[in-house]
Amino acid sequence: MILLLVEVVAVNRIDDYFAVQEQQNLESRASAVGNILRVFVEREAGSDPVVSRTDRVDPDVVSLLSNEAFVGALARIGGADLELRLGREAVRTATGERRLVPGSAGPWTARYEGAPLAGQTRQAISRTFIVEIDAADEPWAMAITLSGPYSYRTTSIADLTLVLAIVALVALALAFLLGGLIARRSATSLRRLTEASRVIAEGDLTARVPTDEGEPVEFRSLSRQFNRMAAQLEESVEFIRRDRDRSRDFLADVSHELRTPIAALRTFNELLREGAAADPATRDEFLEASAGQLERLDWLALNLLELSKLDSGLVLLDLRPDDLRTSVESAVEQAEAVAARRGIELTMTLPERPVRIRHDPQRIAQVVANLVSNGLKFTPRGGSVRVELEAQRDGARIRVTDTGVGIDAAELPRIFERFYRGSRANEARGSGSGLGLAIARSIVEMHEGRIAVASQLGEGATFTVFLPKDPRAVSEARREGGA
Ligand code: ADP
Repeated sequence: MILLLVEVVAVNRIDDYFAVQEQQNLESRASAVGNILRVFVEREAGSDPVVSRTDRVDPDVVSLLSNEAFVGALARIGGADLELRLGREAVRTATGERRLVPGSAGPWTARYEGAPLAGQTRQAISRTFIVEIDAADEPWAMAITLSGPYSYRTTSIADLTLVLAIVALVALALAFLLGGLIARRSATSLRRLTEASRVIAEGDLTARVPTDEGEPVEFRSLSRQFNRMAAQLEESVEFIRRDRDRSRDFLADVSHELRTPIAALRTFNELLREGAAADPATRDEFLEASAGQLERLDWLALNLLELSKLDSGLVLLDLRPDDLRTSVESAVEQAEAVAARRGIELTMTLPERPVRIRHDPQRIAQVVANLVSNGLKFTPRGGSVRVELEAQRDGARIRVTDTGVGIDAAELPRIFERFYRGSRANEARGSGSGLGLAIARSIVEMHEGRIAVASQLGEGATFTVFLPKDPRAVSEARREGGA
């Protein structure tokens, strides 16, 4: 459609251009004819006026113009059929054109007899040119009409139209061919995409769209995006599934953990009611044991609550630029009684200068307390637990080292997982529920820090916590880096 429009407009414009050219061409030929005619006519008329006041054309001039050979020669100069008129003057018509007032004789005509050149055709046009001659006080004028000149106009236009039509047809055919090809390829890509969507919808999250190099760019990027989305979906579902499995295990663990102290409490209670209370020594022993079990229940409930708060993001850190030594010290002091009871040496090394780090003192104390309590739990009597704090260029490092049972290499990667309890956990005095390290890791990561462990079975364990100077600066830098 556009091609057709272009063709019509182009041909039209070129035709206009040819028409202007032809007009100029005719004008110069008419002027040549006029100049020659003037010389001959004035020579014939001699001293007489060419056209008298009574509009009579000089007889010598009439006889010259009646000579067909002469007019024929002029027609050849004009390159077209020629008609000549002479008159005394030209007047302007109402439309502004000039028109000759013809004299008594004429017009004289001659057909153009010359043979056209190859490619030339006759044009169906006719133009009249008026030439006024201001000869002293005897002015006269001539009207030279040239009709049907030969020119290349028609053939040129025809040639051009043909060429443009061929170009248009070729372009059209190409467009159809390319359009068809692209449509076919698009259809294939779409089919693959639909197929992959269907498979995913049916539950197979591993389905992907093949990204073919030959595909159109848009489809390739669409396929890539689709695959990225599918991969994310798969990852998320896998994460949720793992989380669900862990939660299920955890629930089982928690129930188990709860049943042990509850069963013990029930036994003490029954025994006391059945008369054991009569003996003060037995009664005191039962009551103390009950208090221990209640403490354990309390501890469990507290940790469960803590972890669920940390996980849900409900906890906002109370970040202060305090001395980290105070936080570490308070955690260690709290554990001193337990260490003494278990016959384990608990030592602490702190720098002499304050370690100013923006941190939540209570939470960091909790991290240290969890690590120390694990150290005490997994270290036999006579062993030691060492806590060290060291200031570093961009933060601080806390290290908790024990000389206990150590951790199996196979278990190392899992110990920070929620609800994970090592296979040797039950051997240790007082079993936990696999929450302590998960809580510690959550808190450290909220501080934009890192927690790591190094251990070998039977060789003790070393937990290292790194805390940056300012958690907010780290998270901002990361956000900017990611954006
Ligand atoms: P738990 O309440 O079982 O101690 P944690 O999350 O604190 O839970 O620890 C998870 C597991 O990591 C423990 O069950 C234990 O197997 C292992 N673990 C943690 N700390 C130590 C340690 N200092 N020495 C040996 N094993 C440890």
